[in-house]
Amino acid sequence: MNSTPRSALVPIAGFGVPPKRIFSVCVLLLLTFSFSAHAQKLSLVGGTVINPADGKTIENAVLVIDGEKIESVASRREAGVPVGSKWIDCEGKFILPGYMDTHVHFFQSGDLFTRPDVVDLTKIRPYRDEVAWVKSHLSDVFARYLRSGITSVVDVGGPFWNFEVRKVANSTPKAPRVAVAGPLISSVSRPQLDLGDPPIVKIDTPDQAREFVRKLAAQNPDLVKIWYIVDQDHPVDSFRPIVRATVEESHGRKLRVAVHATELETARAAVEEGADVLVHSVIDKEVDDRFVQLLKQKHTILCPTLVVFERYGRTFANKLNLAPEEKAWGNPEVIASLDVTKLPQDQLPDRIKTALANPEASLDRIKKTYDVALKNLKTLEDAGVIIAAGTDAGNIGTIHGPALFREFQLMKEAGLTPMQILQCATANAAKLFGGDIGARLGSIGKGNFADLVILKSSPVEDIGRASDIDTVVKSGALYPVDQLLKSPQ
Ligand SMILES: [Zn+2]
Repeated sequence: MNSTPRSALVPIAGFGVPPKRIFSVCVLLLLTFSFSAHAQKLSLVGGTVINPADGKTIENAVLVIDGEKIESVASRREAGVPVGSKWIDCEGKFILPGYMDTHVHFFQSGDLFTRPDVVDLTKIRPYRDEVAWVKSHLSDVFARYLRSGITSVVDVGGPFWNFEVRKVANSTPKAPRVAVAGPLISSVSRPQLDLGDPPIVKIDTPDQAREFVRKLAAQNPDLVKIWYIVDQDHPVDSFRPIVRATVEESHGRKLRVAVHATELETARAAVEEGADVLVHSVIDKEVDDRFVQLLKQKHTILCPTLVVFERYGRTFANKLNLAPEEKAWGNPEVIASLDVTKLPQDQLPDRIKTALANPEASLDRIKKTYDVALKNLKTLEDAGVIIAAGTDAGNIGTIHGPALFREFQLMKEAGLTPMQILQCATANAAKLFGGDIGARLGSIGKGNFADLVILKSSPVEDIGRASDIDTVVKSGALYPVDQLLKSPQ
């Protein structure tokens, strides 16, 4: 997992120099590229370019970067020898579009205190302190995404502060591109999260929904988000007119609508009303053919977020199964907080107490969820529904950045091939990102943003190698990965 010195990533110009010297020249040059990325064209020479958008690979490729865009990509035979640009030897390396996580929440840290509406631990850590921590660690979170090869993310719901996050990310080189939704239009309220700029807003009438969409539209959101929560007190049909009004008002303003709907009938209602994106899997029952055809016909994008379905339960039951990447690249403070056995015993919320008393019951519930969700993912993928990879990072136990690699494992368990998984995390994810920027993300081609991940081994046979990252390229700037989590920006 730890990156090795990138002695193989030697500028061709360095040949003939003693090996030790080559290494230091190489590091020096790479550092220079990081800080003066737009000064000169760069050519990545000799690597294998993998483009999941069409499943094609180009061996011994020349990929030329001009400023923040890709100028050209071709096999070395066709491209010839690049002239007038800095060369970077990528022989033995694999170059892919940067990964994208299309379901994250920046207002949540992933630690144990980030959802006081789920488990109230505010006596141990007031929510105000949690929010202050989140706001002061934005650059840290951004760097962890890049370290994980993730060059774009979609925040599908949070406070109005989310629009500030997008602005900060846009002006921070060492950050992923960020698309955002604002506060969630919801059937239920969550007062525990309301410190004056709530992430979740209860909407009771279609008129209120229209008014709220107009308020959101002033911030130019990338998506409008609906939290379509259904229970005994909130049946599918009672909130449906609000979904309809939200979609109408949003589409009238050329805004897309993303909906949280985890039951089959809720998801069906959402898509029938015009939802552009479903932000989770259906987990209550197997999808039927009518649902599959509906998604295909409407070109609805579905983001499975498999990892989040295990993380609340496993954290509370003290059975957390963080992937090696999460342990290595997740925020250590966040990870340390997730040990529920360290909590004062007399302050354990009931939900954690119950889970600790019977961890097998939690694991069993997770297994039942996956029995349905993984099968549904395979059905939808086989049918040609657009699946975009995403994690729901920021929720308790779902680690910003490297949680995507656990998501990849689960997608593999569902039966997706490595190339399909990579397509979900690049080309399909770019469709969910949307807009003029999304149109230039997710595939390697002329005119697209030079957002790339350079791997030391090929993920095409084994998706586990997707995290074998050597260098991340964002907007044409190269970042050797072992420097991403060290230096301040
Ligand atoms: Zn979410």
